[in-house]
Amino acid sequence: MCFEFPDGVYWPRTQVERRQHFIPRFCPWPDCPAHGGAASRTGFGFTRHGSYSTRRRRAVPRFRCATCRRTFSRQTFAVSFYLKRPELLVPVASALQAGSAHRQIARSLGCAPSTVTRLSARLGRHALLLLARALRHLHGRVAEPIVLDHFETFEFTQDFPFGIATPVGQASWFVYGLDPAPHARAGTRSEAQHARLATRPARPLRGGYEASSARVISLLLPLRFAGRPLELIGDGHPAYDRAARRCARATALRLRRFPNPPRAPKGAPRSPETRARDRAMFPADALHALLRHTVAHHRRETIAFGRRLNALMERLFLTAIWRNFVKWRSERRPDPTTPAMHVGLTAERWPWRRVLARRLFPGRERMPHAWRDLYRRDWTTPILPSNTRHRLRHAF
Ligand SMILES: [Zn+2]
Repeated sequence: MCFEFPDGVYWPRTQVERRQHFIPRFCPWPDCPAHGGAASRTGFGFTRHGSYSTRRRRAVPRFRCATCRRTFSRQTFAVSFYLKRPELLVPVASALQAGSAHRQIARSLGCAPSTVTRLSARLGRHALLLLARALRHLHGRVAEPIVLDHFETFEFTQDFPFGIATPVGQASWFVYGLDPAPHARAGTRSEAQHARLATRPARPLRGGYEASSARVISLLLPLRFAGRPLELIGDGHPAYDRAARRCARATALRLRRFPNPPRAPKGAPRSPETRARDRAMFPADALHALLRHTVAHHRRETIAFGRRLNALMERLFLTAIWRNFVKWRSERRPDPTTPAMHVGLTAERWPWRRVLARRLFPGRERMPHAWRDLYRRDWTTPILPSNTRHRLRHAF
């Protein structure tokens, strides 16, 4: 059974690699007319084309597309396509989420650190596509307010800070998206810091907080429940106000502001404003605490800090999928639901094995431009000597 219920995500329980009666629903070649969504509606034409065996797997069936006449196999539809050690995917995903750094994972799994780095990127891309797929199912169905806040981190050096927009459902705690907002370093700086900053190469800010917030708003607007405005809760950051004003459909959006009150002396009771702010922003605050706790990159004072924005984002997409599908909503209180169950995407918790049960193809998913850039690794970090783009012809 693939459907859990009619509105849920179409997603197999058994990994593609293990399915005995696998039938392709579309051609996996991205430039084939039978690759897109239309093919699955009209029925996909293919013929069987023998099979092959490897040391790990016997009789992997092959197929030939009736449209482009090219061949492919069952393995083409697995997240582990082309991998020499497919068994590493699940343990790497869970170790990344348990807060281990790449070299620690490599040591405990007995593989090269570069293997972990490559798998981390592959997992991140898969997570990005899965989140895009999930949002497609949520179009016109989200009635809860969404809390918008930026999580602060940096790439390579603290001279290159950036925020990451983390829109999260107020009731479901579902993470609806991620969007980076590079910005200039704030705060007072010493002479030496000024001098060092002047020698750093310029990096594209892509509109900073305001453009990032505008991108998030256009990502969320189609999700709103028919006839109701999208209710956004923010901490009063002026960029959110400007982005909301830029929104073409003003009636479709309602922005509620809960500014951070001035910091009270330690131990003083919280003011009513602080209480209201903390209550309204709780899902975002809790998510940010979870990110600092579970992702090695984002701990304070670590040597595992992220070197490049694009890789950090890949890893956070994996975290978003873990938060939404794998982790219980609350482990402190008995709550046998995940955020994805809360928003009606799934009927049960997904173990990592299920998250990785099938491959998604970028050509078949709708996603924002910024996400497509991240998928292609086009969001580069200029200070690094090389920025490897994701341009593989077959394993894209
Ligand atoms: Zn084809």
